[in-house]
Amino acid sequence: MSSPTIAPWSADQVTALAPDKQVATAGLKLASPATWSDAGVHEALVWGSASGSGKKPYRVCVDLSGPAFTCSCPSRKFPCKHAVGLLHLWSRGQVADRGTGRLRRRVAGGPGQASPAEGRAAGGRGPAR
Ligand SMILES: [Zn+2]
Repeated sequence: MSSPTIAPWSADQVTALAPDKQVATAGLKLASPATWSDAGVHEALVWGSASGSGKKPYRVCVDLSGPAFTCSCPSRKFPCKHAVGLLHLWSRGQVADRGTGRLRRRVAGGPGQASPAEGRAAGGRGPAR
């Protein structure tokens, strides 16, 4: 028993999320598999690392059920071009479904301090009694 991964949106739906035309265009440019590493999708969560101009890749995580976006880049745009780019990649079926917990753990415990939205949403571990 596993929850189905959300069916990819159309490119138009992704573009509609962009706060302005600049982000929409830049997002499209980023929607290339070469830009991304560790990209994955599971249920309502899409994540990936985008190589940018900096030394460290930007870690992006999108919760499709919100939708909610997190990215480690300094952009003030919301969502930023990385989130839009990642969603374009996903809408084209170029993000692999990680149905197992393996990659999730890798995302949460991987290098870099940016934790995916999921971790924040889950809150603490609950009281140990
Ligand atoms: Zn970003």
